[in-house]
Amino acid sequence: MTSASRAALITGGASGIGRATALAMARAGIDIVVADIDADAGLQVVREIESLGTAALFVRTDVSDEAACADAVAETVRRFGRLDIAFNNAGIIGAPSLTADYGVDDWQRLIGINLSGVFYCLQHELRVMAQAGGVIVNTASVMGLRGTVGGSAYCAAKHGVIGLTRAAALEYGKRGVRINAICPGFVATDMTVGSRSIMAPAQVEAGAAQAPLRRIGTPDEVASLVVWLCSEQASFVSGAVYPVDGGLSAG
Ligand code: NAD
Repeated sequence: MTSASRAALITGGASGIGRATALAMARAGIDIVVADIDADAGLQVVREIESLGTAALFVRTDVSDEAACADAVAETVRRFGRLDIAFNNAGIIGAPSLTADYGVDDWQRLIGINLSGVFYCLQHELRVMAQAGGVIVNTASVMGLRGTVGGSAYCAAKHGVIGLTRAAALEYGKRGVRINAICPGFVATDMTVGSRSIMAPAQVEAGAAQAPLRRIGTPDEVASLVVWLCSEQASFVSGAVYPVDGGLSAG
């Protein structure tokens, strides 16, 4: 079945920044594919989108599995007949550990999801978009711009996402594909203040207080940037890296 409106694939769309972006794009009339490892939460987001009157599909996807990423892209094209927008956003934080003590299995898991997962999705998205054009946003982090103690794998992955974004933007601009990265600072999601957090509330508060705006951000504030980057308003923006961090990375 094809659709006249645009179609977006959002990894990590079941929660936090991905969920907020899925809902914001759905409100703009964009058909949504939620690709996530968490089926219960993903199906719940699909129901929320459908209640807004927009079409949505859930595809259970582990982004560290290349074949699953291929399937998510193929399912999007099968259901909606097109792929206009991709938000490669799924990620984990991983337990903190000094570099010399970082477990190789933990390293490979985090790099597999946060860096290889973006690469696998990007490859399959680009194979579709190189024909018809499109726009891609990859989620990096302020930790893609600086280091943090105990976060060598996370920092390496997020720096890698920025490099991947820049290289792909150089390669695919002439095919009508815009590719940008976002660098969120502290944002209130399950990763920071919810079930997946590895930080004490006081640590999150202290981190957020370092930003000039002196507070934690909301998923909707990140979603606004992604929606703008994917819109015609940003038609001359590609290969760019946008902090959305209350000013944290300015210092
Ligand atoms: P979140 O935990 O609320 O959402 C992450 C989503 O990714 C979840 O739905 C989870 O099920 C999904 N996911 C995890 N592993 C997956 C896998 N292997 N395959 C597919 N889906 C998987 O967290 P969030 O804060 O919304 O995180 C979204 C992105 O933003 C991540 O890439 C994260 O690194 C990045 N980020 C978050 C912050 C923050 O402060 N929250 C800051 C900087 C960057």
